[in-house]
Amino acid sequence: MLSIAKRTALRAAGAVPRTQSVFSNLGPSALQRLLSTLAVLEQREGKLNHGSLSAITAAKTLGGAVHGFVAGSNIKSVAEEAAKVDGVEKILAVNNAAYDKGLPENYAPLLVENIKKGGYTHVIVGHTSFGKSVLPRVAALLDSQQISDITAIENENTFVRPIYAGNAISTVESSDAIKFITIRGTAFAAAEVANGSAAVEDGVDPKAELNTEWVSEDLAKSDRPDLATAGKVVSGGRGLKSKEEFDKVMLPLADSIGAAVGASRAAVDSGYADNSLQVGQTGKVVAPQLYMAVGISGAIQHLAGMKDSKVIAAINKDPDAPIFQVADVGLVGDLFEKVPELTEKLKSS
Ligand SMILES: Cc1cc2nc3c(=O)[nH]c(=O)nc-3n(C[C@H](O)[C@H](O)[C@H](O)COP(=O)(O)OP(=O)(O)OC[C@H]3O[C@@H](n4cnc5c(N)ncnc54)[C@H](O)[C@@H]3O)c2cc1C
Repeated sequence: MLSIAKRTALRAAGAVPRTQSVFSNLGPSALQRLLSTLAVLEQREGKLNHGSLSAITAAKTLGGAVHGFVAGSNIKSVAEEAAKVDGVEKILAVNNAAYDKGLPENYAPLLVENIKKGGYTHVIVGHTSFGKSVLPRVAALLDSQQISDITAIENENTFVRPIYAGNAISTVESSDAIKFITIRGTAFAAAEVANGSAAVEDGVDPKAELNTEWVSEDLAKSDRPDLATAGKVVSGGRGLKSKEEFDKVMLPLADSIGAAVGASRAAVDSGYADNSLQVGQTGKVVAPQLYMAVGISGAIQHLAGMKDSKVIAAINKDPDAPIFQVADVGLVGDLFEKVPELTEKLKSS
């Protein structure tokens, strides 16, 4: 049975603010002292995922005690790094290579045991492939309903999340005893790894039987900034016409300003760019300081992934392209002429 009461505030697309305040008016209260949140921190090859730090910020926004959770092989250094995050009281660490790949089949029972032991009121994880895969199982095992992809916290029971590709904002109130929440990384600033001195303790390891085998992964590697967290992103669309042109036009532009490269789904589907570069409803959600859309029409599914960018610049030969409706700066013209010209100017500036 669903235990979530929904109050859905539908707003016309134009009325939705481009940026939303994450920190609502949470004043200190007696109730907040009873709250305790477990922030599940992702690690890959011994490095804390940057997005995990946003989960800690969200946990701190709730008030109450904040504990972090890490698991994998040689977890000590990751746990020690996480312990330096300001405002975290305790890091629970489970040292076991079986959790290296974050497989939900054994990671879910692992979390269940640690949540039961800690008696947490909230469990928060980034809305990443890992979070989306693991947390629903944990929530189901503990008879709760997950609240996904939140962008703001109103109070300990009430959360804000975009729906319909960001065209409506839903305010969700949960009466579940434990709230299982995934957060949109771009809506919560990453907590600083600074002068914190959280205690590091061993978590419970149920060593659940694993009937799934990790076979392999094929990760796209790039020396450019990570698309999800870059401060500047330049994205190319179908207007680039081919992979050769995409590489010839977009990569020098990206390098001239130290930007990450993104792409529209049409560009990805046409083979101009790797799937991992897709921005949008079914790709990555980004909110950099600068987002430059080149030869991208501005379909609603693309806007869902970038409209919270601080400054949006667009280059398109069609003055009526919808991208200009969200752009702060627009240039109408042929990208094959304008972008190389711009790149040269940026390189020499
Ligand atoms: C369920 C679903 C999910 C989707 N998810 C995503 C998603 O995550 N991300 C996403 O991007 N899309 C997504 N889409 C697809 C989306 O609807 C659009 O089809 C797609 O975004 C279009 O990509 P585009 O703007 O590159 O191509 P087009 O719409 O074809 O636009 C190309 C643009 O390039 C311009 N142009 C062409 N030549 C030049 C030139 N020489 N100089 C300057 N400008 C030029 C044109 O004027 C045009 O505006 C999704 C669709 C569905 C149904």
